[in-house]
Amino acid sequence: MTIRFENGTIVTLGEDNQVLKNSTLVTDGENVAAMGGGAEMRERYPDAEVVDCSGQVILPGFICTHHHFYSTMARGMAIPGEPASNFVEILERLWWKLDMALSEDDIAPSAQIPLIECIRNGTTTVIDHHASPSFRDGSLDIIEEAVREAGLRASLCYEVSDRNVPGAGIAENERFIKKVGQGDGQIAAMMGLHASFTVSDETVEKCVGIAKDAGVGCHIHVAEDAADREDSLAKYGKPTVNRLHDLGVTGQNSIFVHCVHVDLSEMDILADTDTIVVHNPESNMNNAVGVTPLLELLEKGVLVGLGTDGMASDMLSQMRVAYLLHRLANRDPRVAFVEAPQLLLGNNAEIARRQFGLRLGEIAPGLPADLAILDYHPPTPFSEKNTLGHLIFGMTDARVDTTVCRGEILMRNKEILTLDEERIAARSRELAPKMWKRLV
Ligand SMILES: [Zn+2]
Repeated sequence: MTIRFENGTIVTLGEDNQVLKNSTLVTDGENVAAMGGGAEMRERYPDAEVVDCSGQVILPGFICTHHHFYSTMARGMAIPGEPASNFVEILERLWWKLDMALSEDDIAPSAQIPLIECIRNGTTTVIDHHASPSFRDGSLDIIEEAVREAGLRASLCYEVSDRNVPGAGIAENERFIKKVGQGDGQIAAMMGLHASFTVSDETVEKCVGIAKDAGVGCHIHVAEDAADREDSLAKYGKPTVNRLHDLGVTGQNSIFVHCVHVDLSEMDILADTDTIVVHNPESNMNNAVGVTPLLELLEKGVLVGLGTDGMASDMLSQMRVAYLLHRLANRDPRVAFVEAPQLLLGNNAEIARRQFGLRLGEIAPGLPADLAILDYHPPTPFSEKNTLGHLIFGMTDARVDTTVCRGEILMRNKEILTLDEERIAARSRELAPKMWKRLV
């Protein structure tokens, strides 16, 4: 299908960001075909469907490089017992009870709700990390189906951990990685592991072997809390990144999520191996685990992306949280204005390229047609020179009106076209209380 998105302000992002006022963008099939003035585009593509983007800004679809779709039914859930007083207790009293209680029926709506929220917020590509020990084998197929129905792109993996059964989840990852193969640009696969402190050397070695044979990376939480670092020092006599590096987990396709508690020598390993780090500021604040040494990681040359860790699907607000957090943490109002957007706009695009083999996060003819179209009337002059200021202080609060992924319109006039939000939310409300009763 060919579509003319007319009369909008196109923000191309990419290395040579341009702000093109009163312009028309044409998509043809899954890609952007052309951009230019309205008259010229009408002449070249007279039969295209027309979407009027007056008063709107057309941005590349946003990318989330760490999410947990399965966290949906935690919303409003009462957690039995005393409130968790530290990170390990949060896992034991909340997340490990919740994932164990998830049934086969819960997995689809748990994924569909955040997929709807991704569409609402213009997030078109997600790297997810899934856990459901009571219905493990085949769980990634259910999520894949939900992603394809939603029309988004996602990289999926299952969280291997020895906490219940040694090596549980390895087979599900292996099966799914083989099924996906090189991928089709919409679905990709990784080898998922929970965290250093819940996996033995033997389990890690098995995971790394499968991942290397298939040419995919590992997706693992690293030094999220000081407890992960202390566990690695006590059991293996080395910090977390050193342990994982010695086991072969590092590399340019692997994602080390969080890296809050890493020292300078661990950062050198991450930089030397070109391992990806994903920062999740809202999650770190919510779990009170500490502040990722973001500026130091970037200074070392580590590729740091931005994720939500299941907290949300709105990437612009996540970017603003990163900006605010690192200003406060460094007590320096000169920092993070460039760095926080760099995580979302530049680095997440590079991480997605390594996952999907596609140039996402940029608008140009020939590139994938993934778009977030926002209602935004700039109250001050708006150009290439001040795009970041408008993004952080203006567009964060703008509503996404239209979302496009792979050339397909997934939401138009704020109405989601691919999924029935009311029906799915009703189904989730019906299932959640039953799941909560299974918490033990
Ligand atoms: Zn996570």
